[in-house]
Amino acid sequence: MKFNINKAIQKISNRITFSPLNFRQVLLLLLLGAVSCQSIQKIPFLPTINSDLVIKNITVIDAKNGLQTNRIILIKGNKIIKNEPAESLSFEVDSPTVIDGKGKYLLPGLWDAHVHLSFIKELTPSMFPLFLAHGVTSIRDTGGQLHLVTPERAKARKDPQNTPRVMIAGPLLDGVPTVYDGSTNTNPHLGVGAGTIEEGNKLVDEMFAADVDLLKVYEMLSPEVYTSIIARAKKEGIVVTGHVPLSMDVIEASNLGLNSMEHLRNLEFACASDWEALKDTRRKMLFDGQSAIGSTLRRNIHSAQRSHAVGNQDATRRTEVLKVLAKNNTWQVPTLSIMTASTERFFLRNDWQDSYKYLPASVKETWIENSNKFGQTDILEDRKAYTNWVFEMIGHLKTAKVDIMAGTDCPIFYLTPGYSLHEELALLVKGGLTPLEAIEAATLKPAQYFSLDEELGLVQEGMFADLILLDANPLEDIRNTKKINAVIRDGKLHDRQALDQILAGLEGKE
Ligand SMILES: [Zn+2]
Repeated sequence: MKFNINKAIQKISNRITFSPLNFRQVLLLLLLGAVSCQSIQKIPFLPTINSDLVIKNITVIDAKNGLQTNRIILIKGNKIIKNEPAESLSFEVDSPTVIDGKGKYLLPGLWDAHVHLSFIKELTPSMFPLFLAHGVTSIRDTGGQLHLVTPERAKARKDPQNTPRVMIAGPLLDGVPTVYDGSTNTNPHLGVGAGTIEEGNKLVDEMFAADVDLLKVYEMLSPEVYTSIIARAKKEGIVVTGHVPLSMDVIEASNLGLNSMEHLRNLEFACASDWEALKDTRRKMLFDGQSAIGSTLRRNIHSAQRSHAVGNQDATRRTEVLKVLAKNNTWQVPTLSIMTASTERFFLRNDWQDSYKYLPASVKETWIENSNKFGQTDILEDRKAYTNWVFEMIGHLKTAKVDIMAGTDCPIFYLTPGYSLHEELALLVKGGLTPLEAIEAATLKPAQYFSLDEELGLVQEGMFADLILLDANPLEDIRNTKKINAVIRDGKLHDRQALDQILAGLEGKE
């Protein structure tokens, strides 16, 4: 069978044969008298491998092997069954679908490790298609009420070929007062509060009953309740992420077994020269604010300490803190998209606002109006300093060998689901990661975090076929991750045309 190189995808039955000579060619040559019986014995019989999807002549990129040129990838069912050098194959392939990957790049599917599926209810139904169309084949929901996020996970599990893999934390396990208590639009009901160890236990029981994939602890927790929640989680073998409680220091929280931290939250306090005094002040503010509104109290504490802490970072103390994070495997999900949005203001870019067209009409209008309005405000000096601190911290984390995962916090702050993950990768590179390290943060690292790295995160035999095919090399320019030619999810090929159809189906929805 001859291949038309210009035609990327051939949906015809193909029998691919590879040099050296295959069995039929040998037989033919034998009949023609071109090879002697002796030489036949030296040529091995080439077995045929049945495959559902083949990508040939492809450059593969993953976090373990870097860049591998001219490979052939065989997919059967929802698994990768072969990743071999294309020129020296010892088998034949029978496959109904063959993609010529010449000039293209195959990567593991991307994760967005910080998502809130239920943050904007009107947007929830559009989120899975948006993720898939942008190559995000797995997500971690880092906070949402169980009755909202559990059905989404069930939906995804029922239809894995057309939805991302979904991991859920359930609601934020917060203290009293609770930050996300549903009191205002900007503080939807994402959190639940526990003031005592007993109340904390009850919440954890509910999470385990719902079979959550991780727990997320939050800022208003007391050290006692936090400690007890983490101990229960360790006993159950479940990972815990979170914001370091304001009542605690990062080192204390990490030593108790926190697996990851979101938004580098409250890390600036821990790295300040007067971190102990700051902690004492926070504890007093928390004690005095018992009857305050949770979101107000948290905001007041952040305002009272953040700029001061950012302006008084201590390099020695920072080294000590990061060493503890590295030793304890307290990974970081810096969510640079949301952390730097107010200064980077990518939401004013044409390409960014263009991504709003796939949002439901009401959300789209609000986002255009609000992002433009926000874009006209002055960039505050202390916010600029904070952004600088955030970017510099990426470099420090890298030096200290603290693991990083890519996550956005979409759909908060005009972060279009799926589209924003590509910005996160670019921002991680801006912060000092190499493009390959940024890709690792969105592929292998999240898989390792959930102990799924035997099955996911690399383009390797035996792994799930969650893959993206790119038209340009992301190692040359990380922004090339946006040039998506096809997405493969759970073995199913969604070519460019199919992805465009998914997106077109979202446009103009109410
Ligand atoms: Zn979040």
